[in-house]
Amino acid sequence: MSEKLDVLNKKLKQAIDTRMVLENARKQQVDTLCNFAAKLSLSCKGMDIELDNRLAKFRRALAKGVDFENFAPLIDEILNILKNQEVQQTAQQRELHDSVLEAGKLLQKTKGLPDDTRRTLRHLLDHELNNVQATNDFIPILNQLVAIYHQALNVKLTLCKDQPGTSQPGLAKELLTLANDLVFEDEAAEQVKAIKNRISENDSIDDLLTAAIEIIRIVASNISKERQSAQSFLVSLNQTLEELHHSIVATSSHSESMGVEFETLNKRIEGKIKNLTTQTQNATSIASLKALVDDELKSLSEDLIEKERLEQEDRQALIKSFKDINQRVGNLESKLTKYKKRLHEQRFKSLLDGLTKLPNRAAFDERFNHEFHLFAVQEFDVTLVVIDVDHFKSINDKYGHSAGDKTLQVIAKALQMSIRKSDFIARYGGEEFVLLMPGMALEHAAAPLEKLRKAVKGIPFKFKNKSVEITISIGATQFKKGDTPLVAFDRADDALYKAKNTGRDKLCINK
Ligand code: GH3
Ligand code: MG
Ligand code: MG
Repeated sequence: MSEKLDVLNKKLKQAIDTRMVLENARKQQVDTLCNFAAKLSLSCKGMDIELDNRLAKFRRALAKGVDFENFAPLIDEILNILKNQEVQQTAQQRELHDSVLEAGKLLQKTKGLPDDTRRTLRHLLDHELNNVQATNDFIPILNQLVAIYHQALNVKLTLCKDQPGTSQPGLAKELLTLANDLVFEDEAAEQVKAIKNRISENDSIDDLLTAAIEIIRIVASNISKERQSAQSFLVSLNQTLEELHHSIVATSSHSESMGVEFETLNKRIEGKIKNLTTQTQNATSIASLKALVDDELKSLSEDLIEKERLEQEDRQALIKSFKDINQRVGNLESKLTKYKKRLHEQRFKSLLDGLTKLPNRAAFDERFNHEFHLFAVQEFDVTLVVIDVDHFKSINDKYGHSAGDKTLQVIAKALQMSIRKSDFIARYGGEEFVLLMPGMALEHAAAPLEKLRKAVKGIPFKFKNKSVEITISIGATQFKKGDTPLVAFDRADDALYKAKNTGRDKLCINK
């Protein structure tokens, strides 16, 4: 009899051990999941401030090891933000769509519109813009483009049919300025460049209308590409989070109820074994003992079978839910990688310098090339200026890098304030700035540049309670026939070098 009890006891121990293994496996899987969630929240950084905050909170909770079930409300919030983002984008999209359609209607009324242009615009309205959901970056530009198109169309409507070649320098300039803000890569970049060059050579109303439509089409197709990948990424992110949420809730409530069942069952089994032991010891006759043990053993083995079944069920449910989650996570991760790659390819290059908020070197290069092209066609004067802060390293050395940063911001602002509206200044790098002065002959440039030099010198800098004077050196040249951008830039740089070598805080001109 006691042999049978031993076997039972062993079985019970085994069952408890299995349960432990299961618990450990669950813990490990939960850890994996937490790691993934942390990775996910880092990957989504930058999509939306609110989303960033919520995901950061999520990460902090994970780091602290907050109970798994407590994540559910956080995941809910994140899901909500994602949904709102979609709604917002849809609203912007509708606005854009409406204004494009309005332009389209105006177009229908136009009599003298070239057939090609009409066809292109109709195609644009019917196909390309229909499914586009613009990202925040593109919407303002697209809106402006549409506005210019509107304007061009109005001009066209008021012009007589026999004046199709009438020059529209104002509109052309506006369109060019806008096109200058568009920096694409690869094929789209080439297309925009070609259109810009065309506009600067030919600014009749018909040419401008065509150019505006072509630019709208390029922007739209880029938006569409970017939106497609952003959209599908958002959708799968949304789905995964939703599924993650359900799985967590299901798994945790499942194991909660399983836990209760296990506990009752264990107690029952333990009680029965205890009972059996006492009864065995107290039994007076073999017959009564046999009857008792038979009964108890029967019910005990039923309990054990039930226990095994429960465990099996629990294990399978867990394995299934984690397998599902793992697969979704895997899919999402590969989507995320693709999305990031595409986003990187399609995004605008950033055109502003983060520290000074002046146009950066990429913006300068664009503008420089464009001015050069204009110069080749029209040969009007363009002065090119290179500016470098004197002994800037010593500001950093003496007062620290952040004082240096602040100084650069103040200098940038002073420079920006001291130039004409038509001039273009950029931060070329470090403590160097470049200035393009279209329409300015070199012989007339000295006065404004001296003014610029004095403006910086006159800034009342104060570090550690001490007044400090900061100066700049300036080198200037002008575009010449036969120049390449590089040759012109080198000439300005030589002038700057001369200014540096002959005492700094001065302007040198290299004709
Ligand atoms: P020079 O008169 O010959 O131009 O002397 P300089 O010290 O200005 O020239 P140098 O090229 O030796 O040093 C430039 C310094 O500018 C070194 C670099 O640490 C600092 N610098 C460049 N970019 C930044 C920036 O963004 N922030 C800060 N704080 N310092 C910068
Ligand atoms: Mg320098
Ligand atoms: Mg310097």
